[in-house]
Amino acid sequence: MPTQNKFTRSLYDPDEFTITYELVPGQGSGGRGLERLLAFARAAGEDGRIKALSITDNPGGHPALAPIAIGSEVRKTGIEPLLHFSLKDKNRNQVESHLFHYHRQRFTNLLVLGGDFPKLSYYGQAKPVFDLDSVQALQLMRDMEEGTYNRKAGSRRAPFEPLFFNRGCVVSPFKTTESEQVWQYAKLLAKIRAGAHFVVTQVGYDIRKFAELIHVLRDNGVRVPVLANVFIPSLAVARHMAAGRVPGIIFPDSLVSRMEEEKQTGDTQARLLRAARLIRTLRGLGFAGVHLGGNDLTFSDVAYVLDTASSLDTVTDILDDQVHFPVKQSWYYYRDALPDKSVRPTPLFPGKRHRDQYIHALFHTLLFAPANLTSRLFGRLCRFCDRTRIRTAIMRSIETWIKTLLFYCRMCGDCTLAESTYICPQAGCPKKLLNGPCGGSRNMTCEVYPDRYCFWVRVYNRLPPGCTMEELGSRPLSPPKNWALDKTSSWINFHTGRDHHGLQEISSKKRPDTQ
Ligand code: SF4
Repeated sequence: MPTQNKFTRSLYDPDEFTITYELVPGQGSGGRGLERLLAFARAAGEDGRIKALSITDNPGGHPALAPIAIGSEVRKTGIEPLLHFSLKDKNRNQVESHLFHYHRQRFTNLLVLGGDFPKLSYYGQAKPVFDLDSVQALQLMRDMEEGTYNRKAGSRRAPFEPLFFNRGCVVSPFKTTESEQVWQYAKLLAKIRAGAHFVVTQVGYDIRKFAELIHVLRDNGVRVPVLANVFIPSLAVARHMAAGRVPGIIFPDSLVSRMEEEKQTGDTQARLLRAARLIRTLRGLGFAGVHLGGNDLTFSDVAYVLDTASSLDTVTDILDDQVHFPVKQSWYYYRDALPDKSVRPTPLFPGKRHRDQYIHALFHTLLFAPANLTSRLFGRLCRFCDRTRIRTAIMRSIETWIKTLLFYCRMCGDCTLAESTYICPQAGCPKKLLNGPCGGSRNMTCEVYPDRYCFWVRVYNRLPPGCTMEELGSRPLSPPKNWALDKTSSWINFHTGRDHHGLQEISSKKRPDTQ
Protein backbone atom coordinates (compact mmCIF):
# COMPACT_ATOMS: atom_id res chain seq x y z
CA MET A 1 0.00 0.00 0.00
CA PRO A 2 1.26 3.51 -0.74
CA THR A 3 2.30 5.82 2.09
CA GLN A 4 -0.62 7.40 3.89
CA ASN A 5 -1.29 11.11 3.50
CA LYS A 6 -4.28 13.39 2.85
CA PHE A 7 -4.22 12.55 -0.85
CA THR A 8 -3.90 8.78 -0.55
CA ARG A 9 -6.45 8.56 2.27
CA SER A 10 -8.96 10.24 -0.02
CA LEU A 11 -7.91 8.39 -3.19
CA TYR A 12 -8.20 4.90 -1.70
CA ASP A 13 -11.41 5.64 0.20
CA PRO A 14 -14.24 4.33 -2.06
CA ASP A 15 -16.68 6.79 -0.44
CA GLU A 16 -14.56 9.80 -1.35
CA PHE A 17 -14.51 11.56 -4.74
CA THR A 18 -10.98 12.93 -4.89
CA ILE A 19 -10.24 16.31 -6.43
CA THR A 20 -6.74 17.26 -7.58
CA TYR A 21 -5.63 20.35 -9.48
CA GLU A 22 -2.66 20.88 -11.81
CA LEU A 23 -0.19 23.72 -11.35
CA VAL A 24 2.11 24.54 -14.28
CA PRO A 25 5.18 26.49 -13.20
CA GLY A 26 7.06 28.41 -15.91
CA GLN A 27 10.67 29.41 -16.43
CA GLY A 28 12.46 31.32 -13.66
CA SER A 29 12.56 31.02 -9.87
CA GLY A 30 10.03 33.72 -9.06
CA GLY A 31 7.80 36.36 -10.64
CA ARG A 32 4.08 37.11 -10.88
CA GLY A 33 3.21 33.79 -12.53
CA LEU A 34 4.64 31.84 -9.61
CA GLU A 35 3.03 34.18 -7.07
CA ARG A 36 -0.35 33.53 -8.75
CA LEU A 37 0.24 29.75 -8.47
CA LEU A 38 1.08 30.04 -4.77
CA ALA A 39 -1.90 32.32 -4.11
CA PHE A 40 -4.08 29.66 -5.75
CA ALA A 41 -2.50 26.99 -3.54
CA ARG A 42 -3.13 29.03 -0.37
CA ALA A 43 -6.79 29.60 -1.31
CA ALA A 44 -7.20 25.90 -2.15
CA GLY A 45 -5.57 25.01 1.18
CA GLU A 46 -8.10 27.11 3.08
CA ASP A 47 -10.96 25.62 1.06
CA GLY A 48 -9.89 22.02 1.75
CA ARG A 49 -11.74 20.25 -1.10
CA ILE A 50 -8.65 19.81 -3.28
CA LYS A 51 -6.62 16.89 -1.88
CA ALA A 52 -3.49 17.30 -3.97
CA LEU A 53 -1.91 19.92 -6.21
CA SER A 54 0.05 18.32 -9.03
CA ILE A 55 3.10 20.22 -10.22
CA THR A 56 4.34 19.64 -13.75
CA ASP A 57 7.95 18.76 -14.67
CA ASN A 58 9.29 20.81 -17.63
CA PRO A 59 5.87 20.73 -19.33
CA GLY A 60 5.73 20.70 -23.12
CA GLY A 61 9.44 19.88 -23.26
CA HIS A 62 10.40 23.40 -22.16
CA PRO A 63 12.66 24.15 -19.17
CA ALA A 64 10.69 25.30 -16.12
CA LEU A 65 11.06 25.59 -12.34
CA ALA A 66 11.52 22.05 -10.95
CA PRO A 67 8.38 20.65 -9.28
CA ILE A 68 10.11 20.04 -5.96
CA ALA A 69 11.00 23.77 -5.78
CA ILE A 70 7.41 24.76 -5.02
CA GLY A 71 6.44 21.37 -3.57
CA SER A 72 7.40 22.38 -0.05
CA GLU A 73 5.62 25.77 -0.38
CA VAL A 74 2.49 23.94 -1.57
CA ARG A 75 2.70 21.55 1.37
CA LYS A 76 2.76 24.53 3.78
CA THR A 77 -0.75 25.40 2.53
CA GLY A 78 -1.95 22.03 3.95
CA ILE A 79 -2.37 20.38 0.56
CA GLU A 80 -0.34 17.38 -0.55
CA PRO A 81 1.91 18.01 -3.56
CA LEU A 82 1.70 15.42 -6.36
CA LEU A 83 4.94 15.82 -8.28
CA HIS A 84 5.13 14.97 -11.96
CA PHE A 85 8.15 12.74 -12.52
CA SER A 86 9.02 12.86 -16.23
CA LEU A 87 11.77 10.82 -17.84
CA LYS A 88 12.58 12.94 -20.90
CA ASP A 89 15.51 14.81 -19.27
CA LYS A 90 16.88 12.28 -16.74
CA ASN A 91 19.11 9.23 -17.10
CA ARG A 92 18.49 6.35 -14.64
CA ASN A 93 21.11 7.64 -12.16
CA GLN A 94 19.40 11.02 -12.06
CA VAL A 95 16.08 9.18 -11.64
CA GLU A 96 17.41 7.35 -8.60
CA SER A 97 19.06 10.43 -7.16
CA HIS A 98 15.79 12.38 -7.46
CA LEU A 99 13.90 9.50 -5.82
CA PHE A 100 16.28 9.47 -2.85
CA HIS A 101 15.90 13.28 -2.59
CA TYR A 102 12.09 13.21 -2.87
CA HIS A 103 11.81 10.39 -0.36
CA ARG A 104 14.03 12.19 2.15
CA GLN A 105 11.86 15.30 1.77
CA ARG A 106 8.70 13.15 2.10
CA PHE A 107 7.43 13.95 -1.42
CA THR A 108 5.91 10.52 -1.86
CA ASN A 109 3.12 11.23 -4.37
CA LEU A 110 4.61 10.91 -7.84
CA LEU A 111 2.99 10.90 -11.28
CA VAL A 112 5.41 8.94 -13.48
CA LEU A 113 5.36 9.78 -17.19
CA GLY A 114 7.69 9.86 -20.17
CA GLY A 115 6.96 13.46 -21.03
CA ASP A 116 6.87 15.57 -24.17
CA PHE A 117 9.92 15.52 -26.42
CA PRO A 118 12.38 18.31 -25.44
CA LYS A 119 11.89 21.55 -27.39
CA LEU A 120 14.08 24.50 -28.31
CA SER A 121 16.08 25.85 -25.41
CA TYR A 122 19.57 27.32 -24.78
CA TYR A 123 21.49 27.17 -28.09
CA GLY A 124 18.87 24.99 -29.73
CA GLN A 125 17.06 21.79 -28.84
CA ALA A 126 17.85 20.00 -25.58
CA LYS A 127 19.13 16.40 -25.73
CA PRO A 128 16.28 13.90 -25.40
CA VAL A 129 17.23 11.37 -22.72
CA PHE A 130 14.39 8.86 -22.11
CA ASP A 131 16.91 6.42 -20.58
CA LEU A 132 13.93 4.73 -18.88
CA ASP A 133 10.35 4.57 -20.12
CA SER A 134 7.46 4.90 -17.68
CA VAL A 135 7.04 1.11 -17.35
CA GLN A 136 10.72 0.67 -16.46
CA ALA A 137 10.69 3.64 -14.04
CA LEU A 138 7.66 2.20 -12.21
CA GLN A 139 9.42 -1.15 -12.00
CA LEU A 140 12.59 0.53 -10.66
CA MET A 141 10.51 2.26 -7.95
CA ARG A 142 8.92 -1.02 -6.97
CA ASP A 143 12.31 -2.71 -6.84
CA MET A 144 13.52 0.14 -4.57
CA GLU A 145 10.52 -0.55 -2.33
CA GLU A 146 10.78 -4.34 -2.29
CA GLY A 147 14.57 -4.52 -1.90
CA THR A 148 14.96 -6.28 -5.28
CA TYR A 149 16.99 -3.37 -6.66
CA ASN A 150 20.47 -4.70 -5.93
CA ARG A 151 19.90 -7.99 -7.73
CA LYS A 152 18.87 -6.17 -10.90
CA ALA A 153 21.69 -3.69 -10.56
CA GLY A 154 24.10 -6.59 -10.07
CA SER A 155 25.29 -4.58 -7.06
CA ARG A 156 27.04 -6.01 -4.00
CA ARG A 157 26.67 -2.75 -2.07
CA ALA A 158 24.64 -2.81 1.13
CA PRO A 159 20.97 -2.45 0.20
CA PHE A 160 19.51 0.99 0.99
CA GLU A 161 16.38 1.47 3.12
CA PRO A 162 13.22 0.66 1.13
CA LEU A 163 11.65 3.70 -0.54
CA PHE A 164 7.85 3.91 -0.52
CA PHE A 165 6.13 6.06 -3.10
CA ASN A 166 2.51 6.50 -4.13
CA ARG A 167 3.09 5.75 -7.82
CA GLY A 168 0.78 7.20 -10.41
CA CYS A 169 0.80 6.71 -14.20
CA VAL A 170 -1.02 8.25 -17.15
CA VAL A 171 -3.11 6.94 -20.05
CA SER A 172 -4.83 8.48 -23.04
CA PRO A 173 -8.25 6.93 -23.68
CA PHE A 174 -8.89 9.55 -26.42
CA LYS A 175 -6.89 8.16 -29.29
CA THR A 176 -8.82 8.12 -32.57
CA THR A 177 -7.42 4.96 -34.16
CA GLU A 178 -7.41 1.27 -33.20
CA SER A 179 -3.63 0.86 -33.15
CA GLU A 180 -3.00 3.87 -30.90
CA GLN A 181 -5.90 3.13 -28.54
CA VAL A 182 -5.18 -0.56 -28.08
CA TRP A 183 -1.55 0.25 -27.34
CA GLN A 184 -2.57 2.85 -24.75
CA TYR A 185 -4.69 0.26 -22.91
CA ALA A 186 -2.06 -2.48 -23.26
CA LYS A 187 0.67 -0.19 -21.96
CA LEU A 188 -1.57 0.84 -19.06
CA LEU A 189 -1.89 -2.83 -18.04
CA ALA A 190 1.91 -3.10 -18.25
CA LYS A 191 2.35 0.02 -16.06
CA ILE A 192 -0.01 -1.41 -13.43
CA ARG A 193 1.86 -4.75 -13.57
CA ALA A 194 5.11 -2.79 -13.09
CA GLY A 195 3.75 -1.19 -9.92
CA ALA A 196 1.49 1.80 -10.63
CA HIS A 197 -1.00 2.45 -7.81
CA PHE A 198 -3.29 4.95 -9.54
CA VAL A 199 -4.02 6.40 -12.99
CA VAL A 200 -4.64 9.91 -14.36
CA THR A 201 -6.15 10.30 -17.82
CA GLN A 202 -5.01 12.63 -20.59
CA VAL A 203 -7.23 15.63 -21.49
CA GLY A 204 -10.35 14.70 -23.48
CA TYR A 205 -14.11 15.40 -23.74
CA ASP A 206 -15.53 12.14 -25.13
CA ILE A 207 -17.70 10.59 -22.41
CA ARG A 208 -17.89 7.29 -24.28
CA LYS A 209 -14.09 7.05 -24.15
CA PHE A 210 -14.05 7.88 -20.44
CA ALA A 211 -16.59 5.04 -19.85
CA GLU A 212 -14.59 2.73 -22.08
CA LEU A 213 -11.44 3.13 -19.95
CA ILE A 214 -13.23 2.13 -16.75
CA HIS A 215 -14.74 -0.87 -18.55
CA VAL A 216 -11.38 -1.99 -19.97
CA LEU A 217 -9.88 -1.95 -16.46
CA ARG A 218 -12.79 -3.83 -14.93
CA ASP A 219 -12.76 -6.30 -17.82
CA ASN A 220 -9.14 -7.03 -16.88
CA GLY A 221 -9.84 -7.31 -13.16
CA VAL A 222 -7.94 -4.09 -12.42
CA ARG A 223 -9.26 -2.01 -9.52
CA VAL A 224 -6.77 0.85 -9.20
CA PRO A 225 -8.30 4.33 -8.67
CA VAL A 226 -8.53 6.48 -11.81
CA LEU A 227 -8.68 10.30 -11.86
CA ALA A 228 -10.41 11.72 -14.93
CA ASN A 229 -8.79 14.79 -16.41
CA VAL A 230 -11.15 17.81 -16.52
CA PHE A 231 -9.29 20.60 -18.31
CA ILE A 232 -10.95 24.06 -18.56
CA PRO A 233 -9.28 25.90 -21.43
CA SER A 234 -9.83 29.44 -22.65
CA LEU A 235 -10.89 29.77 -26.30
CA ALA A 236 -7.32 30.65 -27.35
CA VAL A 237 -5.90 27.56 -25.66
CA ALA A 238 -8.71 25.40 -27.06
CA ARG A 239 -7.85 26.54 -30.60
CA HIS A 240 -4.13 25.91 -29.89
CA MET A 241 -4.92 22.37 -28.74
CA ALA A 242 -7.33 21.69 -31.62
CA ALA A 243 -4.51 22.66 -33.99
CA GLY A 244 -2.52 19.73 -32.57
CA ARG A 245 0.11 21.92 -30.90
CA VAL A 246 0.00 20.14 -27.53
CA PRO A 247 1.48 16.61 -27.79
CA GLY A 248 -1.01 13.87 -27.01
CA ILE A 249 -4.10 16.11 -26.82
CA ILE A 250 -6.73 15.56 -29.51
CA PHE A 251 -9.15 18.44 -28.98
CA PRO A 252 -12.64 18.17 -30.57
CA ASP A 253 -13.45 20.84 -33.17
CA SER A 254 -17.08 20.67 -32.02
CA LEU A 255 -16.03 22.04 -28.60
CA VAL A 256 -14.06 24.89 -30.20
CA SER A 257 -17.18 25.80 -32.23
CA ARG A 258 -19.27 25.70 -29.03
CA MET A 259 -16.79 27.97 -27.23
CA GLU A 260 -16.80 30.40 -30.19
CA GLU A 261 -20.61 30.58 -29.94
CA GLU A 262 -20.30 31.25 -26.20
CA LYS A 263 -17.82 34.06 -26.93
CA GLN A 264 -20.30 35.56 -29.40
CA THR A 265 -23.01 35.57 -26.73
CA GLY A 266 -20.57 36.84 -24.05
CA ASP A 267 -21.25 33.79 -21.85
CA THR A 268 -18.08 33.86 -19.70
CA GLN A 269 -19.36 31.26 -17.19
CA ALA A 270 -20.13 28.61 -19.83
CA ARG A 271 -16.76 26.85 -19.61
CA LEU A 272 -17.08 26.62 -15.82
CA LEU A 273 -20.63 25.25 -15.95
CA ARG A 274 -19.54 22.71 -18.58
CA ALA A 275 -16.71 21.55 -16.30
CA ALA A 276 -19.17 21.18 -13.41
CA ARG A 277 -21.49 19.07 -15.56
CA LEU A 278 -18.55 16.95 -16.73
CA ILE A 279 -17.48 16.29 -13.12
CA ARG A 280 -21.07 15.27 -12.28
CA THR A 281 -21.12 12.89 -15.23
CA LEU A 282 -17.73 11.35 -14.51
CA ARG A 283 -18.66 10.74 -10.89
CA GLY A 284 -21.38 8.38 -12.14
CA LEU A 285 -19.01 6.42 -14.37
CA GLY A 286 -16.83 4.90 -11.65
CA PHE A 287 -13.91 7.33 -11.53
CA ALA A 288 -12.28 7.81 -8.10
CA GLY A 289 -12.12 11.53 -8.72
CA VAL A 290 -11.13 14.26 -11.14
CA HIS A 291 -7.83 15.94 -12.01
CA LEU A 292 -8.72 19.56 -12.71
CA GLY A 293 -6.69 22.03 -14.71
CA GLY A 294 -7.04 25.00 -17.00
CA ASN A 295 -5.66 28.39 -17.87
CA ASP A 296 -6.60 31.86 -16.64
CA LEU A 297 -8.51 30.33 -13.73
CA THR A 298 -8.68 31.83 -10.25
CA PHE A 299 -9.45 29.72 -7.21
CA SER A 300 -12.92 31.26 -7.02
CA ASP A 301 -13.57 29.96 -10.57
CA VAL A 302 -12.60 26.46 -9.41
CA ALA A 303 -14.70 26.80 -6.25
CA TYR A 304 -17.66 27.80 -8.44
CA VAL A 305 -17.13 24.66 -10.54
CA LEU A 306 -16.98 22.43 -7.43
CA ASP A 307 -20.01 24.13 -5.83
CA THR A 308 -22.03 23.76 -9.03
CA ALA A 309 -20.94 20.15 -9.60
CA SER A 310 -22.13 19.13 -6.13
CA SER A 311 -25.44 20.97 -6.58
CA LEU A 312 -26.32 19.36 -9.92
CA ASP A 313 -28.85 16.53 -10.07
CA THR A 314 -27.83 13.03 -11.04
CA VAL A 315 -27.11 12.92 -14.74
CA THR A 316 -29.72 11.10 -16.82
CA ASP A 317 -28.29 11.40 -20.33
CA ILE A 318 -24.54 11.06 -19.96
CA LEU A 319 -24.00 11.54 -23.68
CA ASP A 320 -25.62 14.94 -23.37
CA ASP A 321 -24.08 17.36 -25.90
CA GLN A 322 -23.46 19.79 -23.05
CA VAL A 323 -20.59 17.55 -21.90
CA HIS A 324 -20.00 14.93 -24.61
CA PHE A 325 -17.68 16.15 -27.39
CA PRO A 326 -16.34 13.17 -29.34
CA VAL A 327 -13.67 13.63 -32.02
CA LYS A 328 -15.09 12.68 -35.41
CA GLN A 329 -14.38 9.15 -36.66
CA SER A 330 -12.92 8.01 -33.38
CA TRP A 331 -12.38 4.26 -32.99
CA TYR A 332 -13.98 2.66 -29.89
CA TYR A 333 -12.83 -0.48 -28.08
CA TYR A 334 -16.45 -1.46 -27.36
CA ARG A 335 -19.14 -1.33 -30.01
CA ASP A 336 -21.79 -0.16 -27.55
CA ALA A 337 -21.66 3.46 -26.44
CA LEU A 338 -22.00 2.55 -22.80
CA PRO A 339 -20.76 -0.97 -22.37
CA ASP A 340 -22.32 -3.07 -19.62
CA LYS A 341 -20.76 -6.17 -18.16
CA SER A 342 -21.80 -8.43 -21.04
CA VAL A 343 -20.33 -6.34 -23.82
CA ARG A 344 -17.26 -7.81 -25.52
CA PRO A 345 -14.60 -5.64 -27.12
CA THR A 346 -14.71 -4.84 -30.80
CA PRO A 347 -12.68 -7.53 -32.63
CA LEU A 348 -9.22 -6.19 -33.35
CA PHE A 349 -7.68 -6.09 -36.80
CA PRO A 350 -4.12 -5.41 -35.89
CA GLY A 351 -2.53 -6.00 -39.20
CA LYS A 352 -0.85 -8.85 -40.90
CA ARG A 353 2.56 -10.35 -40.83
CA HIS A 354 4.78 -8.92 -43.61
CA ARG A 355 6.81 -11.32 -45.81
CA ASP A 356 10.07 -10.03 -44.32
CA GLN A 357 8.86 -10.94 -40.83
CA TYR A 358 8.63 -14.66 -41.73
CA ILE A 359 12.21 -14.62 -43.01
CA HIS A 360 13.51 -12.71 -39.97
CA ALA A 361 11.55 -14.95 -37.58
CA LEU A 362 13.02 -18.02 -39.31
CA PHE A 363 16.60 -16.73 -38.94
CA HIS A 364 15.88 -15.69 -35.37
CA THR A 365 14.69 -19.20 -34.55
CA LEU A 366 17.63 -20.82 -36.38
CA LEU A 367 20.28 -18.61 -34.70
CA PHE A 368 18.84 -17.63 -31.32
CA ALA A 369 16.27 -20.21 -30.17
CA PRO A 370 18.25 -22.32 -27.68
CA ALA A 371 16.45 -25.55 -28.57
CA ASN A 372 17.86 -26.22 -32.02
CA LEU A 373 21.24 -27.34 -33.27
CA THR A 374 21.97 -24.37 -35.54
CA SER A 375 21.44 -21.96 -32.69
CA ARG A 376 23.73 -23.96 -30.42
CA LEU A 377 26.40 -24.01 -33.15
CA PHE A 378 26.01 -20.28 -33.78
CA GLY A 379 26.18 -19.73 -30.02
CA ARG A 380 29.49 -21.60 -29.87
CA LEU A 381 30.83 -19.52 -32.77
CA CYS A 382 29.83 -16.31 -30.96
CA ARG A 383 31.49 -17.43 -27.72
CA PHE A 384 34.57 -18.44 -29.74
CA CYS A 385 34.70 -14.97 -31.33
CA ASP A 386 34.17 -13.37 -27.94
CA ARG A 387 37.52 -14.69 -26.73
CA THR A 388 39.68 -12.41 -28.92
CA ARG A 389 39.35 -8.78 -30.00
CA ILE A 390 40.05 -9.47 -33.65
CA ARG A 391 37.39 -12.19 -33.90
CA THR A 392 34.95 -10.01 -31.95
CA ALA A 393 35.62 -7.12 -34.34
CA ILE A 394 35.04 -9.36 -37.38
CA MET A 395 31.73 -10.67 -35.98
CA ARG A 396 30.64 -7.14 -35.07
CA SER A 397 31.43 -5.83 -38.59
CA ILE A 398 29.45 -8.65 -40.22
CA GLU A 399 26.52 -7.94 -37.87
CA THR A 400 26.73 -4.18 -38.50
CA TRP A 401 26.76 -4.64 -42.27
CA ILE A 402 23.80 -7.06 -42.36
CA LYS A 403 21.60 -5.35 -39.78
CA THR A 404 22.17 -1.79 -40.98
CA LEU A 405 21.04 -2.92 -44.43
CA LEU A 406 17.97 -4.76 -43.13
CA PHE A 407 16.90 -2.78 -40.04
CA TYR A 408 18.78 0.60 -40.00
CA CYS A 409 20.44 -0.98 -36.97
CA ARG A 410 22.12 1.39 -34.48
CA MET A 411 24.27 -1.44 -32.99
CA CYS A 412 22.92 -0.85 -29.49
CA GLY A 413 24.29 -4.28 -28.48
CA ASP A 414 21.01 -5.27 -26.79
CA CYS A 415 18.73 -6.27 -29.65
CA THR A 416 14.92 -6.15 -29.28
CA LEU A 417 13.97 -6.80 -32.93
CA ALA A 418 12.14 -10.03 -32.05
CA GLU A 419 10.06 -8.12 -29.48
CA SER A 420 8.98 -5.42 -31.96
CA THR A 421 7.99 -7.42 -35.10
CA TYR A 422 11.53 -7.09 -36.57
CA ILE A 423 11.63 -3.34 -36.91
CA CYS A 424 14.11 -1.43 -34.73
CA PRO A 425 12.89 0.97 -31.98
CA GLN A 426 16.35 2.56 -31.71
CA ALA A 427 16.04 3.61 -35.36
CA GLY A 428 12.26 4.08 -35.56
CA CYS A 429 11.21 5.74 -32.28
CA PRO A 430 12.79 9.13 -31.41
CA LYS A 431 12.18 8.37 -27.71
CA LYS A 432 13.69 4.86 -28.13
CA LEU A 433 10.75 3.36 -26.22
CA LEU A 434 10.84 -0.42 -25.65
CA ASN A 435 7.50 -1.17 -23.97
CA GLY A 436 4.99 0.43 -26.34
CA PRO A 437 4.20 3.96 -27.44
CA CYS A 438 4.25 7.30 -25.66
CA GLY A 439 1.01 9.24 -25.46
CA GLY A 440 2.12 11.83 -28.00
CA SER A 441 0.98 10.25 -31.26
CA ARG A 442 -1.84 11.87 -33.22
CA ASN A 443 -3.89 10.04 -35.88
CA MET A 444 -1.16 7.38 -36.01
CA THR A 445 1.61 9.93 -36.67
CA CYS A 446 4.60 10.47 -34.42
CA GLU A 447 4.66 13.28 -31.83
CA VAL A 448 8.19 14.20 -32.89
CA TYR A 449 7.99 13.57 -36.66
CA PRO A 450 4.36 14.24 -37.69
CA ASP A 451 5.20 13.26 -41.28
CA ARG A 452 5.86 9.69 -40.16
CA TYR A 453 3.81 6.91 -38.64
CA CYS A 454 4.43 6.29 -34.94
CA PHE A 455 6.90 3.39 -34.67
CA TRP A 456 4.56 1.45 -32.38
CA VAL A 457 1.65 1.95 -34.80
CA ARG A 458 3.88 0.27 -37.41
CA VAL A 459 4.55 -2.56 -34.92
CA TYR A 460 0.79 -2.92 -34.34
CA ASN A 461 0.20 -3.21 -38.07
CA ARG A 462 2.66 -6.09 -38.19
CA LEU A 463 1.08 -8.07 -35.35
CA PRO A 464 -0.56 -11.39 -36.23
CA PRO A 465 -4.35 -11.34 -36.80
CA GLY A 466 -6.34 -12.22 -33.69
CA CYS A 467 -3.80 -10.64 -31.33
CA THR A 468 -5.65 -9.19 -28.32
CA MET A 469 -5.04 -6.13 -26.18
CA GLU A 470 -4.55 -8.41 -23.17
CA GLU A 471 -1.80 -10.34 -25.00
CA LEU A 472 -0.10 -7.03 -25.81
CA GLY A 473 -0.53 -5.89 -22.22
CA SER A 474 0.93 -9.10 -20.76
CA ARG A 475 4.09 -9.25 -22.91
CA PRO A 476 7.35 -9.59 -20.93
CA LEU A 477 8.43 -6.13 -19.79
CA SER A 478 11.58 -5.04 -21.65
CA PRO A 479 14.20 -3.86 -19.14
CA PRO A 480 16.19 -0.67 -19.78
CA LYS A 481 18.93 -0.85 -22.38
CA ASN A 482 22.38 -1.64 -20.94
CA TRP A 483 24.56 1.18 -22.29
CA ALA A 484 27.71 -0.79 -21.49
CA LEU A 485 26.77 -2.88 -24.54
CA ASP A 486 26.44 0.08 -26.91
CA LYS A 487 28.28 -0.41 -30.24
CA THR A 488 29.09 -4.04 -29.40
CA SER A 489 27.81 -7.21 -31.10
CA SER A 490 24.31 -8.10 -29.88
CA TRP A 491 24.78 -11.59 -31.40
CA ILE A 492 27.72 -12.23 -29.07
CA ASN A 493 25.92 -10.52 -26.15
CA PHE A 494 22.92 -12.78 -26.67
CA HIS A 495 24.95 -15.97 -26.72
CA THR A 496 27.05 -14.95 -23.74
CA GLY A 497 23.97 -14.00 -21.69
CA ARG A 498 25.10 -10.35 -21.43
CA ASP A 499 22.00 -8.80 -22.98
CA HIS A 500 18.44 -8.34 -21.60
CA HIS A 501 17.48 -11.88 -22.58
CA GLY A 502 20.15 -13.12 -20.17
CA LEU A 503 18.88 -10.70 -17.47
CA GLN A 504 15.24 -11.75 -18.05
CA GLU A 505 16.38 -15.35 -17.71
CA ILE A 506 17.80 -14.51 -14.23
CA SER A 507 14.90 -12.33 -13.01
CA SER A 508 12.12 -14.63 -14.29
CA LYS A 509 13.38 -17.24 -11.86
CA LYS A 510 12.85 -14.74 -9.00
CA ARG A 511 9.81 -12.58 -10.02
CA PRO A 512 7.57 -14.35 -12.60
CA ASP A 513 4.83 -11.66 -12.69
CA THR A 514 7.00 -9.07 -14.39
CA GLN A 515 7.62 -11.41 -17.33
S1 SF4 B 1 7.47 6.85 -32.66
FE1 SF4 B 1 5.58 6.75 -31.45
S2 SF4 B 1 6.25 6.16 -29.45
FE2 SF4 B 1 8.05 6.92 -30.50
S3 SF4 B 1 8.12 9.10 -30.02
FE3 SF4 B 1 6.98 8.91 -31.90
S4 SF4 B 1 4.85 8.85 -31.23
FE4 SF4 B 1 6.09 8.38 -29.47
